[in-house]
Amino acid sequence: MTLRLDRSSQWFSRAQRLMPGGVSSPVRAFGAVGGTPPFLVRGEGAYVEDVDGNRYIDYVGSWGALISGHADPAVVEAAVEAVRCGSSFGASTPWEVELAEVLCEAVPSLEMVRFVCSGTEAVMSALRAARAATGREGIMKFDGCYHGHADSLLVQAGSGLATLRLESSAGVPTSAVAHTVSLPYNDVLTLEEAFERFGKEVAAVIVEPVAGNMGVVPATREFLEALRDLTVAYGALLVFDEVITGFRVAWGGAQALFHIRPDLTCLGKIVGGGFPLAAYGGRRDVMSLVAPAGPVYQAGTLAGHPVAVRAGLAILRRLRESASYERLEHLSSVLAEGLRSAAQEAGVPVQVNRVASMLTVFFTDRPVTDYESAQRSDGVRYAQFFWGMLRRGVMLPPSPFEAMFVSLAHSEEEIGRTVEAARTAMREVR
Ligand code: PMP
Repeated sequence: MTLRLDRSSQWFSRAQRLMPGGVSSPVRAFGAVGGTPPFLVRGEGAYVEDVDGNRYIDYVGSWGALISGHADPAVVEAAVEAVRCGSSFGASTPWEVELAEVLCEAVPSLEMVRFVCSGTEAVMSALRAARAATGREGIMKFDGCYHGHADSLLVQAGSGLATLRLESSAGVPTSAVAHTVSLPYNDVLTLEEAFERFGKEVAAVIVEPVAGNMGVVPATREFLEALRDLTVAYGALLVFDEVITGFRVAWGGAQALFHIRPDLTCLGKIVGGGFPLAAYGGRRDVMSLVAPAGPVYQAGTLAGHPVAVRAGLAILRRLRESASYERLEHLSSVLAEGLRSAAQEAGVPVQVNRVASMLTVFFTDRPVTDYESAQRSDGVRYAQFFWGMLRRGVMLPPSPFEAMFVSLAHSEEEIGRTVEAARTAMREVR
């Protein structure tokens, strides 16, 4: 079975001459799976199409942003109407207030919210506010969690850094990470010890309540409860990075699902309906420190972008009004079961980790509960599986340390065809 990527290959050569690695974001270069990345020109529902005319069932979904699939008519209509009214004003609009109202109603910890353009900015700004609120500098994070590419967070980070097996990034001054400590995920004992040693210096503990950037690894209830209890005991703020999980794992995010209320929350991806929009928010006393209400400076030319905001409102309306999450849960569980049995039939040991509509197939025979166990996933096998699936018209994330996302545009038919493809692709894995 062959896959022609001639035109993509030409575009990739042109791109590599002018753009570092030929891409706008590292994982897109296919470093972990090798070969030519398809250059995409169109998305419709559960499908994407490349410049060579190949069509794939898509499980990347713009890295989780597209919970209703590509070119959802409701989102397209909202965005087109917004563009017709002028693409950006750099001034306040009614729609950002409406979106703030929807978010604060849905997400338990949000009393106030500020809109920004990327998850990176949301996290960076939330931590600035946390440091101002506590008068402390320490940041605690967890190995394998990715919180964007702000200097202070580029230690033991997941996602692209996990794929490239880099522990940190060049160009980050030691002073920028001097106050950051990265601890093992889901390890309550180490967490308690760390708090005993320097808990009083910690401004914020930031965590992905379901990690998506070392592949899908859910936090245990015990770990989340320890995080909440220890931050309260030591006067640190608990920050949930829900850039992926917000409105993905449940209406209102992981905090609504697990009934744990952080002090601050970062949102991105889904809330912008596939446009560049993110947000951070939480306790009123902390958010009141943000400029111009308070002394924490943070601003943005395109922040609260009207097209993104109106697209976000459209998707949230859809998510709220239908039985969306039940549908996503059903489809995703069928997919996870299908992938598990395809691997079993082929005699390939895998762990399929899933929370709601985010899942990862780890090529290892042992449970994956943290960054160390995630790293045991066999990258060569993943690459073989990835290409076997791509040749059969299924686009998986091009790295073993990322999540697959099911959208409302996927149906039983696409899930069935995906499992069929996996049956054959798993047999090619050696
Ligand atoms: N936090 C998490 C949990 C993420 O998954 C990401 C990106 N995948 C970010 C932050 C950074 O968001 P962005 O890429 O929009 O800057």
